[in-house]
Amino acid sequence: GLPRTVIIKRTPFDKHMQLLVSQDITPMEKLNQTRSDFIANVSHELRTPLTVINGFVETMQDLPNLPADKREQFLALMKKDSDRMLTLLDDLLTLSRLENSDPSNKLQPINLSALVEQLSQEGITLSAGKQSFSTDIAANLWIQGVQLDLYNALSNLVFNAVRYNHEGGHIDIRLHTDDHITARFSVSDNGPGIAAEHIPRLTERFYRVDAGRSRASGGTGLGLAITKHALAEHGSRLEVESTVGKGSEFAAEFDLISKPQAVSLSGSDAP
Ligand code: ADP
Repeated sequence: GLPRTVIIKRTPFDKHMQLLVSQDITPMEKLNQTRSDFIANVSHELRTPLTVINGFVETMQDLPNLPADKREQFLALMKKDSDRMLTLLDDLLTLSRLENSDPSNKLQPINLSALVEQLSQEGITLSAGKQSFSTDIAANLWIQGVQLDLYNALSNLVFNAVRYNHEGGHIDIRLHTDDHITARFSVSDNGPGIAAEHIPRLTERFYRVDAGRSRASGGTGLGLAITKHALAEHGSRLEVESTVGKGSEFAAEFDLISKPQAVSLSGSDAP
């Protein structure tokens, strides 16, 4: 490749050289901009809850005889914001692991049907009766994957459908195959929907359509970025269809494998 530092003498006539220089600098500047935007975002996201916690600590230091109920209330608020910081840090670690991972050696057979069943149950639990659910999940579909990453990828879609849907809304979770070669997973909701101009940016880190709503429901703004990277690790990508006022559908396709044979514990190829 090109050397990292190139010293070029430019003359007014050396247009070709100038072109090379500007082409060389532009992607680098862009990368630096992305990086500093990211650092600014992370700092802001961490600073906000930390400022709240810090304020309550000071208040409690200034008022040592605070009534018990106030004390409890302040501690609960501090707990909430420290939980938020932990969630954000966990998401950041997940994202950085996914961005730097080489999955080739850790893919294993995964029962996608069982995972989607589990996610539906978790969605229903999270919804706590606020929305109704329907599911149509084909049994016994297997793919090659990484269980935790796949869980992260698809759970964000199910949980978003619950978190952004209104009370009384409906959520439909499907896994189906027409040809037993690929399977399609989809989550549809009849929530607020997303305007077309936002859709290409949804998987950007910290991109939120409605920041207040995202934070209020515990969102870090990293969910769909994690989904995108985790799907890429599985050779898949996120499909989004949405209409404002009607709802959204998030989907992904996977290459199926045949159901693995039961593994013998005393197998000859054990290490
Ligand atoms: P967040 O943690 O904010 O939910 P995500 O990356 O998961 O971050 O999603 C990015 C944004 O996309 C959200 O802030 C929200 O505005 C929008 N979004 C995601 N899923 C849905 C959905 N099912 N319905 C409406 N808006 C959604």
